[in-house]
Amino acid sequence: MKILDVIRDERLTLSFEVFPPKTDAAFEEVLQATEEIAALKPSFISVTYGAGGKGGKYTMEIARRLQNADGVETLAHLTCVGAGKEDVRAYLTAMKDSGIHNIMALRGDLPEGMTPEDMKRSAYPHASDLIREIRSMGDFCIGAACYPEVHLESAVQAEDLRYLKEKVEAGADFLTTQMFFDNNLLYNFLYKLREAGVTAPVVPGIMPITAANQVRRALKLSGSFMPRRFTSLVDRFGTSPEAMKRAGIIYACDQIIDLFANGIRHVHVYTMNKPDVAGAIQSQLSGMRGRTF
Ligand code: FAD
Repeated sequence: MKILDVIRDERLTLSFEVFPPKTDAAFEEVLQATEEIAALKPSFISVTYGAGGKGGKYTMEIARRLQNADGVETLAHLTCVGAGKEDVRAYLTAMKDSGIHNIMALRGDLPEGMTPEDMKRSAYPHASDLIREIRSMGDFCIGAACYPEVHLESAVQAEDLRYLKEKVEAGADFLTTQMFFDNNLLYNFLYKLREAGVTAPVVPGIMPITAANQVRRALKLSGSFMPRRFTSLVDRFGTSPEAMKRAGIIYACDQIIDLFANGIRHVHVYTMNKPDVAGAIQSQLSGMRGRTF
């Protein structure tokens, strides 16, 4: 099944993201977590690609198992920064041979030591270059990243939107957002995106923050605006792991319910490989998930 068909479904649906291990030693533990998340039967699972282009073999292995053994539709991420054409083509062929037809096409963050000039000289300087390559290799459903709060390297939103449009024209079928903690940022972004002539479906990505130490990391990765309503939760409950986890789950559910109430039908949840968090979100939304309104 194509992810595009999941997104177009009239019912309210959820999908989950997992990330692969960094080492062989952590493989079994991550696999166990991803299988528990798969047992929740989300409408699909995305498997990220190791930062700096590392860890592709684990992405492939986990994606393969989810797709074929667990029977969950899988979206495998692929980054192109620093990658050669032969490797990318071989990877895509292996994905296709494993029955994986949904690829999230990303540039990736520049690895340490790589300058913007090095990047421009590389085989695929931007995600749009990778998208063109994937499109030329057959019938993949292709996702791409978008940034309601503007990508950290873009000077202004208009520039970011111009390049986003290029990604869709290159062949991206849908867009998934960076995490955000204030839904108004998404609604403003959607308005500007449509005004810029981009009609591809947008899947909001929601990150449940369930531990105080996740806040700094999330901020560093995404530069996301943290509303006072959210930071108050961390101030109040951050020192109590159980209370912070509940508050983070409820905050994420509140965001998702507001998205559903405002016409969004599909939401992607960044689970951070936590089956209990994924399961709690799913059960909070029972009665809505899988239904049309
Ligand atoms: P691009 O689309 O290439 O954009 C990067 C920057 O370059 C933007 O500022 C853009 O405006 C600009 N730009 C784009 N095209 C051009 C052009 N032709 N000329 C000049 N400027 C241009 N990282 C991982 O390592 N692994 C993952 O699995 C992963 N998954 C992600 C999933 C989602 C949903 C999101 C939102 C991000 C993910 N990331 C992942 C992080 C992502 O790799 C970084 O944000 C990276 O810095 C940009 O990737 P991109 O695909 O958006 O790049």
